[in-house]
Amino acid sequence: MTAVRSPSPQPAASGAEPTRVDVVIVGGGFGGMYAVYKFRELGMSLQAFEAGGDLGGVWYWNRYPGARVDLPSIDYSYSFSREIEQEWTWSEQFAAQPELLRYIDFVATRLDLRRHYRFNTRINQAVWDEARQLWQVTTESGEVYEAPYCIMATGPLSVPKKPEIDGLERFQGRLLHAARWPHEPVDFTGKRVGVIGTGSTGIQIVQEVGRQAGELFVFQRTPSFTMPMRNVPLEPAYMAEVKRHYAGIREVARNSPIGGARPQSTRAFFTVTPAQRQELLEDAWKHGGLAMLGTFGDLMINEEANEHVAEFVRGKIDDVVQDPDTARRLKPQGYPIFARRPCLDTGYYETFNLPNVHLMDCLTDPIVEATEKGLRTASGETELDILILATGYDGLTGALLAFDVQGRDGQTVQDKWKDGPRSHLGIMLAGFPNLFMTTGPNGPAALANIIRMSENDVDWIAQAILHLRANGLGSIEPSIDTEDRWMDLVHALAKPSLINKAKTWWVGANVEGKPRGLTQFVGGFMKYREHCAAAAANGYAGHVLQPAREQVREKAA
Ligand SMILES: Cc1cc2nc3c(=O)[nH]c(=O)nc-3n(C[C@H](O)[C@H](O)[C@H](O)COP(=O)(O)OP(=O)(O)OC[C@H]3O[C@@H](n4cnc5c(N)ncnc54)[C@H](O)[C@@H]3O)c2cc1C
Repeated sequence: MTAVRSPSPQPAASGAEPTRVDVVIVGGGFGGMYAVYKFRELGMSLQAFEAGGDLGGVWYWNRYPGARVDLPSIDYSYSFSREIEQEWTWSEQFAAQPELLRYIDFVATRLDLRRHYRFNTRINQAVWDEARQLWQVTTESGEVYEAPYCIMATGPLSVPKKPEIDGLERFQGRLLHAARWPHEPVDFTGKRVGVIGTGSTGIQIVQEVGRQAGELFVFQRTPSFTMPMRNVPLEPAYMAEVKRHYAGIREVARNSPIGGARPQSTRAFFTVTPAQRQELLEDAWKHGGLAMLGTFGDLMINEEANEHVAEFVRGKIDDVVQDPDTARRLKPQGYPIFARRPCLDTGYYETFNLPNVHLMDCLTDPIVEATEKGLRTASGETELDILILATGYDGLTGALLAFDVQGRDGQTVQDKWKDGPRSHLGIMLAGFPNLFMTTGPNGPAALANIIRMSENDVDWIAQAILHLRANGLGSIEPSIDTEDRWMDLVHALAKPSLINKAKTWWVGANVEGKPRGLTQFVGGFMKYREHCAAAAANGYAGHVLQPAREQVREKAA
């Protein structure tokens, strides 16, 4: 038998012995909360950690004005508890951040989840001890926890991207990052406000702050395609009907490409007449939400069809924006529609008709630096009282790469992912036994409803751990071959997709030095679930399963 490396057990910085539990869970968003509930219900001892001051994840941190989900609230909610489904009532079709946080609080209180968490506690190291078959997890303050199983529910969008603007520290006004928004309200009245970034977050901020600020300067490098959300209140009678049919609604969601109900079609764009196409697109525009994405089945593989739809949306910008030059600059060009995350808005383009709102085109007039008084672009300085950064996230891989995770033989995640993230199902990594991710890279995280996916992933992880425990096994990890085959599939599916044709966080293009390539499974959520089920079949064939060490020792004796 080969000798196995065992880092000597680390006493806590305080000198205390490491705390031993069955499962360590990192993250207090939707994924982590469900994992805590699941493993507690399975009777396992656990400890969970959250860097923030409370539960909520994305919705704890992103408190900016206008923050709102872009999937219907009914879909973007837990399905694992019939009681919660029946007891909670959504007030709007697309819930705003305060309501999402109330929902999270309701779930946490109802299930008594907070007692398992240590808040304001960042994990900065996790090391696999092969000899003892457990993870040693260390907090920022040096406390050590040990557990055979470690679940990283650290979030696909939890690490704000560092803005690439010189001199931000010089700015004497108020600097705000959308993803680290203060807990108290910010008053924009009469203020000169700048917003950098026009992705989903920037759009939500602009349409809100434009109506409050004295003057709003929108610094835009890449315009996004955005479509009307057409949010509506949910009437009691409608919600009662939803509650009666939740089981069916969940079934549809689990078997749909995005993990949520939305209109979809297999119809190819050029199989219908131009007049019919126009009618279908107009209907989708009036319907709102992501209806446009479902009008035709070939929009992400047929470039010409995609361009027709893009041109339809550009036409809508002309219809709304009064100043032709502003309208022209707001029109996205040079990448396919839906190749960046499609945005949903409520009066975004109308905001640019307000006299106090100014579009700053950073393609023709790039930002040079921040100054004491504001922002300097090539053409001059814009003085600001408040500067808002809506500059996005180090998506999918950022959270795990942000700290020291060491698998077998001291291999780090940084090393494993130096040419781009590799995983099996976005859940496990070869060489990192018993380390599990929820909504990790190479799964469908950015392309599907994350709550459906988190539930799927946590259930998969729980089933795998139960399998280990039932069979006297000490560890599980995908074989290199299994991981390779998954990555081949991810790449093969991604190849014909137009998603590759935009410079987005989906392909790692928003962070300097990050390896490029689509890190998403584009085959659809229902197919992803099938792959997850197949991976668990036949006693986890395709995985390396090690006997529990005590049994190895017994056999050797
Ligand atoms: C503004 C915004 C809007 C979004 N809207 C949608 C939407 O409409 N639909 C959709 O499907 N998805 C949306 N998303 C994606 C979103 O990431 C998921 O929907 C979901 O909230 C993710 O849940 P999670 O639990 O996986 O991660 P998160 O909610 O990000 O939670 C992860 C938590 O882990 C903590 N953490 C990370 N590293 C450590 C560490 N080392 N130590 C301790 N704690 C750590 C973080 O502080 C964070 O609180 C949105 C994301 C953003 C940013």
